[in-house]
Amino acid sequence: MVSAFAFTLLARDGAARRGRMETAHGAVDTPAFMPVGTAATVKAMRPEDVAATGAQIILGNTYHLMLRPSAERIAALGGLHKFMNWPGPILTDSGGFQVMSLTKLRKLSESGVTFRSHLDGARFELTPERAVEIQHLLGSDITMAFDECTPFPAEEAAAQNSMELSMRWAERSKRAYGPRPGHALFGIVQGGVYPELRRRSAAALRDLGFDGYAVGGLAVGEGQSTMFGVLDVTVPALPEDRPRYLMGVGKPDDILGAVRRGIDLFDCVLPTRSGRTAQAFTRRGTVNLRNARHAADPRPLDADCGCAACTGYSRAYLHHVVRAGEILAAMLLTIHNLRYYQDLMAGLRGAIEAGTLDAFAQLFAREQDAGDIAAL
Ligand SMILES: [Zn+2]
Repeated sequence: MVSAFAFTLLARDGAARRGRMETAHGAVDTPAFMPVGTAATVKAMRPEDVAATGAQIILGNTYHLMLRPSAERIAALGGLHKFMNWPGPILTDSGGFQVMSLTKLRKLSESGVTFRSHLDGARFELTPERAVEIQHLLGSDITMAFDECTPFPAEEAAAQNSMELSMRWAERSKRAYGPRPGHALFGIVQGGVYPELRRRSAAALRDLGFDGYAVGGLAVGEGQSTMFGVLDVTVPALPEDRPRYLMGVGKPDDILGAVRRGIDLFDCVLPTRSGRTAQAFTRRGTVNLRNARHAADPRPLDADCGCAACTGYSRAYLHHVVRAGEILAAMLLTIHNLRYYQDLMAGLRGAIEAGTLDAFAQLFAREQDAGDIAAL
């Protein structure tokens, strides 16, 4: 029996919220971090490895999947959950961000975007209706409305035009989306760094009514203080009783700051991408395993981490597989980084429940500032 998509608030600490989403493929405890599974795989990880880090939901990319192997093929093979062997909830983006960042020769119009694939130059069109159809074919638990990710920097007039286009597309996305039990459609707030545009965008989406609300167009070079400033005006303009998703963010301290401002959902390529370039996130900041200081170090990467990389291997071994270019280096460091992010989210959820988020944030900052070398 498939239940309705639901979001329940369980506890608060200041503006921060501890909640739970119920989807057709299971529950998601929030605040939550979604590992990015770009091409129907979280790179270097089997789905069971991803689940073992504590992740309850992953993100898939409409743009990549529509080009290869195509939404129609995935649908014919039983949908994205079955295709990639991930039984849990999946959120898919609408493709808009990748079309803007990856393709050349794209043409934007009122109806949508036409572009050429970065793989082979083939011509595609993405409209709000087609983006919703693709996400339906994939079987996404959470569908994102099609939007234009406003470039940064953008003058206010350009940001306004872009935001207003995205709001018209949001309306078309909503119309194209048939209600499905356990599934959700999220709208995306745009408006660049301009408070009034953000407020108008949030109000327009509220009037349309979505199952959840995302804040888009951030983490594109504006800096953390500007991003937090946008959240300070945007989050209070969103409905209390619906989940809020900050797209593409971010570093651990970005996530902490956004949770404190009332954000519930995150995704970012940082832990997985960094895991393939020898960068590890730890309780004492980032560590580069390529660095020669690890070459003879018998200790674990992070003594407080329970992941397979930290419980089974020394820094010396991780350094060795990194320097030798072994595939296992990417696997172990991705496992560790995703576990670090999931532990951070679990810590945030526990602190919100206990009403101790301030103390949690202070300890987090103290440990990060102490740095890895000081810990030796
Ligand atoms: Zn670890």
